[in-house]
Amino acid sequence: MTFRIFNTISNRVEEFVPHSSDEVTLYTCGPTVYRNAHIGNLRSYLMADWIRRALTHHGYKVRHVKNITDVGHMRLEMLEQGEDKVVAAAIAEGKTPKEISQEYTDLFFQDERSLNILPAEKFPRATDHIPEMITLTKRLMEQSHAYEVQGNVYFSVSSFPQYGQLSGNPATKLQDGSRVKVDPLKQDPRDFTLWKSAEPGRLLKWDSPWGAGFPGWHIECSAMSMKYLGLSIDIHTGGVDNIFPHHEGEIAQSQGATGLQFVRYWIHGQHLLADGIKMAKSSANDYTLSDLEQRGFDPLAFRYLCLTTQFNARLNFTFSGLRAAQRGLTRLRNRIWDWSVNSTQTPLSSQLEEEVTRREKQFWSRVDDNLDMPGALAELWSVAHSDLPSQTKLHLLRVFDDSLGLGLSEVPQQYLLPKTIELSLKRRGELRRNASFKDADILRDRLKSQGFVIHDNKTKTYARPVSALEVHPQTWREYSSSREVPSLLLNKSELDISIVIVACNYLEDVQRCIRSVLRWSSGHALEVVAVDNGSSDGTSQWLEDTASSEPLLRVLHTDHVLGDAAAKNIGLRQSLGNTIVMLDTCAEVTGDLYGPLIRALRDGQVGVVGPFGLRTSDLRHFEEVPVSCEVDAIQAYCFAFRRADLPLVGWMPESFRFYRNLDIQYSFQFKANGFRILANPKLPIHRHEHRVWSALADKEREKLSGENFRRFLKQWNHRTDLLVEPSSAQLP
Ligand code: AMP
Ligand code: ZN
Repeated sequence: MTFRIFNTISNRVEEFVPHSSDEVTLYTCGPTVYRNAHIGNLRSYLMADWIRRALTHHGYKVRHVKNITDVGHMRLEMLEQGEDKVVAAAIAEGKTPKEISQEYTDLFFQDERSLNILPAEKFPRATDHIPEMITLTKRLMEQSHAYEVQGNVYFSVSSFPQYGQLSGNPATKLQDGSRVKVDPLKQDPRDFTLWKSAEPGRLLKWDSPWGAGFPGWHIECSAMSMKYLGLSIDIHTGGVDNIFPHHEGEIAQSQGATGLQFVRYWIHGQHLLADGIKMAKSSANDYTLSDLEQRGFDPLAFRYLCLTTQFNARLNFTFSGLRAAQRGLTRLRNRIWDWSVNSTQTPLSSQLEEEVTRREKQFWSRVDDNLDMPGALAELWSVAHSDLPSQTKLHLLRVFDDSLGLGLSEVPQQYLLPKTIELSLKRRGELRRNASFKDADILRDRLKSQGFVIHDNKTKTYARPVSALEVHPQTWREYSSSREVPSLLLNKSELDISIVIVACNYLEDVQRCIRSVLRWSSGHALEVVAVDNGSSDGTSQWLEDTASSEPLLRVLHTDHVLGDAAAKNIGLRQSLGNTIVMLDTCAEVTGDLYGPLIRALRDGQVGVVGPFGLRTSDLRHFEEVPVSCEVDAIQAYCFAFRRADLPLVGWMPESFRFYRNLDIQYSFQFKANGFRILANPKLPIHRHEHRVWSALADKEREKLSGENFRRFLKQWNHRTDLLVEPSSAQLP
């Protein structure tokens, strides 16, 4: 059977036929080394690794090149703004750009090793290949595919009619969606930069026929791919975000210069998501491999997790998913350990040989079918569960692991026991034989405290090291998203009040808030629903401990920091009180809050009540009102409404990851359903420092608030009719 794979450029699964009969040339767009690679990046390198292993199995020698982007990484928009992140990061850290990129390159190599990713034959650095990029640029100019303006060189998209064949983006569409200012020097806004002249003061720059400057982003991959693998190569890989503009640009440059087909098979990995959106540093939903290790996971558990989804499907990363992967991997290792230690070689009968061949065939047919690694993993488990002799299973699993790369061959060595532990095991065996079970159990516990788990089967006793997750067992349930949390909305209830509190670190604030809520609770049937949103400072444990002796407190944990709306929705889903009060942890209750709130909400026209109200006349500027009156929004410090109105008003929109403006958004959801909103500044709530806000740098505040504000405006821009004091001028 031949290897079949989805080729982005033909948009279908194709039989793989390399240019040369025994060698495959493979180029992988590698890491940008001014920051850590996140596990999303690593997923795309794992895909390349599985492709490479599959082709090696087919007998090809794979020549693999993976570039290190240490300069030309400036995405088009950054280029346009003359921004270079390596330089910016270096200056910020008081280091040279070279030092910064070396540091992150080393970390990247470490990540690849931890994940059993086979090292590429060559890891060329962009900064070592400036002359090659200049030569290629010159060549493109000679062939009228490029032109120079004031020390900048641009690729002329109109000179290359096939532009757009990979991404399907007709070149005309390009500028529409982009927020980037058009570079006035370009003849055509679609043109992209090959060489950019250096602005005064720039550190990273090189001499060129067009003056001092630096290369564009796409040109490095064209130049290095051609240098190390030839003008025309078999496979080029990357994540789907590379398809446009990066790979489209590479094709134009390379084919423009050589007239030859640049790449035969374009293979793109789908994204790793977190909270349903692409994992990226800029979305603040990124994790590094060392983040996972710090939480007690084995890096190879991430490799296992990636095996469970085909490369061309998106994979939503959750810690509960990773935990399941870790369990799967541990179970597999334990079995292998057991077979290799506790079974003897059995000669292969011809019938058995046939079965082995059939199983191998089945496994490889999954791999060859568009890299169906989930299918291949299922074949492996089917062997593991079969009644084949242990040694045969061992043989098969090791063969399979040439493709999977889970390090299964190393398992017995990994699990080798120290001499002292072996002696203890022997001693325990004697105790058991003498029916001294009590002493045997004591020894078992001692071994456990030394980091070894004991298994007794019918014939033998053996030990293996405790896995990281067994050392820190999960004692409470953790949710990965609000959807996993059951909604109690339709449950009947006698409770008056649910106080919903989202806690993410700042333990003292959480304690002050919850204690104040409980101090004033007498006379009301009340519950506190605390959502521990991925805290890492001991807040989780305090909440658990407190809840164990405080019947009014219920705690729900998330396995990472969810967006604010998602975390609040967890609280709303679990609330049973007829009145729901969302409290921010910077708020402190200083008197009878609940009586006045319940009374105010007896008026069916009133939807929301709280102490801190906002008014606006243009939906853009909101001002706090100092007196009791009707308002346009209630701030999140204390936000009360009837549970019965939730089905009408709906959940909080989870695209709001940051808290800011979410309260205004939610207020408008009430308004749009005809409810009035009342502010009463006399309500007994004291606002302390809002630490989530004060911990942020100005720039970050602006960015996060701005994003939410745009979301809000997009939906409500035209609804001045909802305002208490609608402005006479209609907004655009
Ligand atoms: P970069 O370091 O940003 O140049 O990205 C390195 C590689 O990771 C590229 O092939 C990207 O396409 C890929 N990549 C970036 N983000 C993700 C993600 N969330 N999931 C999978 N691959 C990604
Ligand atoms: Zn590239």
